[in-house]
Amino acid sequence: MSAELTFVAPRRAKPSRHLADLSMAERRTAVAELGEKPFRAEQLSRHYFERLTTDPQAMTDLPAASRDQLVKHLMPDLLTSVREITCDGGMTRKTLWRLFDGALVESVLMRYPDRVTMCVSSQAGCGMNCPFCATGQAGLTRNMSTAEIVEQVVAGARALARDEVPGGPGRVSNIVFMGMGEPLANYKAVLGAVRRITDPAPEGLGISARGVTVSTVGLVPAIEKLANEGLPVTLAVSLHAPDDELRDTLVPVNTRWKVREVLDAAWNYAATTKRRVSIEYALIKDINDHEWRADLLGRLLKSKLVHVNLIPLNPTPGSKWTASRPEDERAFVRRLESHGVAVTVRDTRGREIDGACGQLAAATPEA
Ligand code: SAH
Repeated sequence: MSAELTFVAPRRAKPSRHLADLSMAERRTAVAELGEKPFRAEQLSRHYFERLTTDPQAMTDLPAASRDQLVKHLMPDLLTSVREITCDGGMTRKTLWRLFDGALVESVLMRYPDRVTMCVSSQAGCGMNCPFCATGQAGLTRNMSTAEIVEQVVAGARALARDEVPGGPGRVSNIVFMGMGEPLANYKAVLGAVRRITDPAPEGLGISARGVTVSTVGLVPAIEKLANEGLPVTLAVSLHAPDDELRDTLVPVNTRWKVREVLDAAWNYAATTKRRVSIEYALIKDINDHEWRADLLGRLLKSKLVHVNLIPLNPTPGSKWTASRPEDERAFVRRLESHGVAVTVRDTRGREIDGACGQLAAATPEA
């Protein structure tokens, strides 16, 4: 007894294993190792991915004596909500999560009339060091596991299903890997998460792969690998500059893979997957918003299967940079359009709750 009370668990290097980390075959093996019939894996999976519950009491199709241990070993809580902030009348909701080792990540749920988009994190922090991004300033803490990534989506799906988001019960339709982290630097876990998100129940959440966007600074070998996974997810490339000289400073990984190489990988992705690639471009006043740069970008993107998302820069605390003037933004759009390139200026939901691009977790004193 006293030994038990004074026992201090050693620090785990990794988050606990969770069924969302595993394929159905692996779940069956894991269940069998716990002394249960393999088909219990399907039942457990339905509870998690369909009914969105981890409450043993609710699992009435499982023997009462087995529920607690199955849940303990295969559905441990991986995320603890630290803070939740809403705006837009509750339609935008940001959650700050603490992971088992104290690392903090955030997810944002955005409800629109016709869809619900969740912006999820794939790493605690980020190692890409882009100077305009709050996450980039703090550096990389660690990769997230597949289940830690999936749990953010399940939490959002649960809130919607339980009518906790204004607008009536709903479902998550879109996932964007635009929270903290560089998804392609955590390739294996992110790919596992994409599979769990898109696999039909009981294997996964059954969200259409067409609604999933993986956003990257442009890690060329990983883009090439992703193209061959047979997953019709949208690729978004954070370009932010059409010329290497400027991009070397805004997206430092450009010193390794140049604009030309990144775009070639993107066109190969579009050709292989038949999916239109998104180009992300944060408009920064007097830095990358010149008409000549719009022209250069237009020439690079002309006649390609591409769509440009212009994001007014969301200034990070202490940043010397700010969003472009409205007239410069309009001129940039016109120049791109003159090359026949499809452009939208992205909605900046969640700004007032630090939920907008690149702001995640930066404003948290515990961080
Ligand atoms: N690492 C990935 C995904 C994370 S961020 C990537 O770079 O694509 C998602 C998008 O938000 C990226 O295009 C990123 O460049 C952009 N972003 C980051 N900080 C921003 C800021 N302060 N204002 C506007 N966009 C920002």
